[in-house]
Amino acid sequence: MGMYLPTKIFFEDNYKESEKLIDSLGNSFLIITGKSSKINGSLEDLLVILNKLGKKYEIYDECLENPPKELIEKIIKKFGKNWDVVVGLGGGSPMDTAKAVAVLCKNDIEVEDLYEPSKYSLASKIICIPTTSGTGSEVTQYSVLTVNGLKKGFKHEAIFPTLSILEPKYTLTLSKELTISTGLDALSHAIESALSLRANDFSDLFAFKAIEIIKNTLPKLVDDLNNYELRKNMLYASTLAGIAISITGTTIAHALGYSLTTEKNIKHGVATAIFLPFEIENATTEKSQKISNIIGNMLDFLKNLDVKVSFEINDNEINRWAETVSKASHIKVTPGNYNIDKIKEAYNWLINKSELFGR
Ligand code: ZN
Repeated sequence: MGMYLPTKIFFEDNYKESEKLIDSLGNSFLIITGKSSKINGSLEDLLVILNKLGKKYEIYDECLENPPKELIEKIIKKFGKNWDVVVGLGGGSPMDTAKAVAVLCKNDIEVEDLYEPSKYSLASKIICIPTTSGTGSEVTQYSVLTVNGLKKGFKHEAIFPTLSILEPKYTLTLSKELTISTGLDALSHAIESALSLRANDFSDLFAFKAIEIIKNTLPKLVDDLNNYELRKNMLYASTLAGIAISITGTTIAHALGYSLTTEKNIKHGVATAIFLPFEIENATTEKSQKISNIIGNMLDFLKNLDVKVSFEINDNEINRWAETVSKASHIKVTPGNYNIDKIKEAYNWLINKSELFGR
């Protein structure tokens, strides 16, 4: 049993303590972000510090959702590889993009090689500043990219962020839709980690605490989006859930959800969470009972948040998706013996569940 987390985490620090560390990390900073960091104040705060410290920086602010391999190549082509620090500022996409770019900065390899951990051992220093409460990427050694139409994560100790700056105030401007989808991503991480066959006492500590906080926070937050205390709870819980999956990885709900995101445009957190009732029910372990004792009926929890997806789907797609999931590493760590028939059953369960699925 063990855990490893080399990331220095600052929570509600307002750059008081973290400034010294930022100064020590290097002289050149490549900032990868989207448009929202201009609205929530996070980009401005960072630039104030970098200017004050006299650092050289460039900003790439066109990061895409579910970052495709071509985006990573484009950033390297545009800004080169000579960066001491790569900053991921925003949701999971900028953070995961920053991790991939940081590796390419220090190695002469292609994006596809990121999936071959033996081909590299170094990366530029990584700073993560999340502005959503969901991904957990700020405390993990994972990055999920879209390569040849498939959402696929790579894992390497070199991409643990050196520094993560957690400021709940940056999440205050998140829309209701994003608050729900990212919050459900965090909940999925916590529940999947708790169910994982790789769970240990360390991961359980983080996972169960996160489930408890999210259960008590998310339903209130959707009706009170400007509530700082609730925002703070969610950012804290999503980071705990991130630490939990840094130990265990995710399980079947994530693998099942990836195709819904890449092919049907369903937000990652929603695409994943809608399979949680199925995963919990089919786990039939002591853990699944413990989760139900906290969250109650998972289907009701999702219904109360008005979570429902709608898209056209045919048998060929289900077969193709099931084929992909059957090759994913997630199935080996999920209780419930997921062979290809069971995976198809999960997809059919969703489309027959009128509470979750409409046409
Ligand atoms: Zn996730």
